[in-house]
Amino acid sequence: MKPAVYFDDYGEEGTLKCLLCPHNCVLRPDETGLCNVRKNVDGMLYSLNYGQLTSIAVDPMEKKPLFHFYPGESILSVGSWGCNLKCDFCQNWEISKERPKVIKRVVPQQLIQIATERLSRGIAFTYNEPIVSFEFILDTSRAAAKEGIYSILVTNGIIEREPMELLAQSVRAMNIDIKGWNEDFYRSEIGADRSIVLRSVEIALSAGTHVELTTLVIPGKSDDPKEMEEQVKWIGSLSPDIPLHINRYFPNYKCKIPPTSTEKLLELAEIARAELNYVYIGNASLEGQTDTYCKTCGNLLIQRKPGKISMSGIDEKGRCTGCQREIPLVF
Ligand code: SF4
Repeated sequence: MKPAVYFDDYGEEGTLKCLLCPHNCVLRPDETGLCNVRKNVDGMLYSLNYGQLTSIAVDPMEKKPLFHFYPGESILSVGSWGCNLKCDFCQNWEISKERPKVIKRVVPQQLIQIATERLSRGIAFTYNEPIVSFEFILDTSRAAAKEGIYSILVTNGIIEREPMELLAQSVRAMNIDIKGWNEDFYRSEIGADRSIVLRSVEIALSAGTHVELTTLVIPGKSDDPKEMEEQVKWIGSLSPDIPLHINRYFPNYKCKIPPTSTEKLLELAEIARAELNYVYIGNASLEGQTDTYCKTCGNLLIQRKPGKISMSGIDEKGRCTGCQREIPLVF
């Protein structure tokens, strides 16, 4: 166990309020928060999953998904356990809703060592929600940066302002979920306020973090064309160059709704492309929908096929070989 950073005394003696995410769980002695991984032990809040890894793999960067950040590179990817949301459609419920077998316990320096041994220039905190491993991620990403190893987060963005600012200053890239645009859906089925996610996106962008966004399209829940129109208008007002991944949903955990149709994915992608320059369809194997095209001349910049990335449409300065437009990529 590791002492948590964000908490305060609350009300009667020995009771604590966790200040890491907006749930602000109030915990009496021996109680654990909604995320299952923060516990009041004798009047001190502890992180229960510090350095506990339940998954380790070297993945393509595109699997995070990050398409405009070191395209084609592989990255050491690790997950722990726990989550601060309650989605019935969770795609990783075995590690987010339950306490699985921990396959490795590490301190930050050991994880950095593993990244080096596996020839990875970065570490991705992914699979379960990294926010609930705040202390471990902050310690690791700061130590890794000193050794020239970058960190990335794949996150739901449900976190208080100050810890988000610290994370944004410590990692190089984030993929943040916008799980839909309907505020009632966010509140009742996800268990959070949509405005918190939007704030997190803005904090990450202001810190200079590379940001990509993902929306899982669930039939009847997050597939309304009008809502997609509003969502991409908001993203476009920040920057039309922010990549958006529109992902196909498949039934999982408690959600039995049939998978999203490809027609719906294509419809929403078309709406998104009216506002945004880089829109991709994920989990669907649709020809050309994961490729990057130049917005000015239509040149194929990056072609993504399973196990093979071709960047023949981009020159060594990161410009389109057809029209010289500068392409927003970290590479
Ligand atoms: S991080 Fe966990 S314990 Fe803290 S407020 Fe959020 S859900 Fe509650």
